[in-house]
Amino acid sequence: DAPLAEVDPEVAAAVADELHRQQSTLEMIASENFTPVAVLEAQGTVLTNKYAEGYPGRRYYGGCEYVDVTEQLAIDRAKALFGAEFANVQPHSGAQANTAVYFALLNHGDTILGLDLAHGGHLTHGMRLNYSGKVLNVVPYHVREDDGRVDMDEVARLAEEHRPKMIVAGWSAYPRQLDFARFREIADAVGALLMVDMAHFAGLVAAGLHPSPVPYADIVTTTTHKTLGGPRGGLILAREEFGKKINSAVFPGMQGGPLEHVIAAKAVALKVAASEEFGDRQRRTLEGSRILAERLLAEDAAKAGVKVLTGGTDVHLVLVDLVDSELTGRDAEDRLHDIGITVNRNAVPNDPRPPMVTSGLRIGTPALATRGFDAEDFREVADVIALALQPEFDQAALAARVKALADKHPLYPNL
Ligand code: PLP
Repeated sequence: DAPLAEVDPEVAAAVADELHRQQSTLEMIASENFTPVAVLEAQGTVLTNKYAEGYPGRRYYGGCEYVDVTEQLAIDRAKALFGAEFANVQPHSGAQANTAVYFALLNHGDTILGLDLAHGGHLTHGMRLNYSGKVLNVVPYHVREDDGRVDMDEVARLAEEHRPKMIVAGWSAYPRQLDFARFREIADAVGALLMVDMAHFAGLVAAGLHPSPVPYADIVTTTTHKTLGGPRGGLILAREEFGKKINSAVFPGMQGGPLEHVIAAKAVALKVAASEEFGDRQRRTLEGSRILAERLLAEDAAKAGVKVLTGGTDVHLVLVDLVDSELTGRDAEDRLHDIGITVNRNAVPNDPRPPMVTSGLRIGTPALATRGFDAEDFREVADVIALALQPEFDQAALAARVKALADKHPLYPNL
């Protein structure tokens, strides 16, 4: 029963270093967040010891009476939070949730439409090297060149032409809301299923600050660790009629024993997501990204060749376009890293620079909102970012401003 620091000082030291990194820098990777301590606690429990193949009440192992409780809580809370008829909380990740849906409802060689990776889609929406791209016939759709919005006329045209079995809507890098009603209409016109992957914006949906895809889609998938603020994992919601097929595609189709410690943590996160405090956090998340977009649209930023894709944001992230800037996406990511702000470089549609360099940044506000940032704090961090993207910048002065913000909002003070 020796503690981690004694059993494995090397791992313990790296964990301590990572905690310090999270505490002392500003996390602005759009897909990241900080889970509440209660979620960390649930995940670090003896539930990790339990095999529980099957589903609550129908397991292939004895001794599942308590993990049945936690998994059923997660299922019930997911259904209630999103108003869904069916939920499967077992996917180990978002990628596995999506792959399980394809496995449940499609055959190899079937056609799907998905947003092109280079235009903001996810790997699992049909990227060439992903399993989806290898086994399905993928027809990508795109954002429009003039305004950067998903080209719904192209989606309709491609659906008519290719008669897909499924249309996938959702994104990893896109700053606007999707038109779920139009996706449904297009899917119905060609007899396709509609899957919405709300991994990025699920927290906003839970708080009622983003339209819900649930009334429109046959299946909705998500991760539980992005705006939703829970443990790393996946979740599938669906209309009841697809439930049986989805359950059997997850287990025994794709996975063996479920991660019951993670599922318990998902249950906790789904409870938190129904709270007032969570709604307030999502409101500050949106406010922060709007403040950031406005600051990056100001004259001094424009003069430095900084642009904001689609001219703003409706969600928790801003996409910065550096095609006209001397800085590449990689330079900008490095500059921000060096003053204590973590973001990721991101290709912009039709990016002239290579994929490892890129001409864009994806900057998100969920983790800072969780840390307690309000409008004033977001104005300060937005100003720091805008100044760091100027040709000349004072690294030490900006690093000091970042440190002051981190000190103002202590993270995990009792860990
Ligand atoms: N779907 C979308 C839209 C995502 O952005 C991501 C993650 O970035 C995933 C699915 C995959 O999630 P995971 O990394 O948990 O496999």
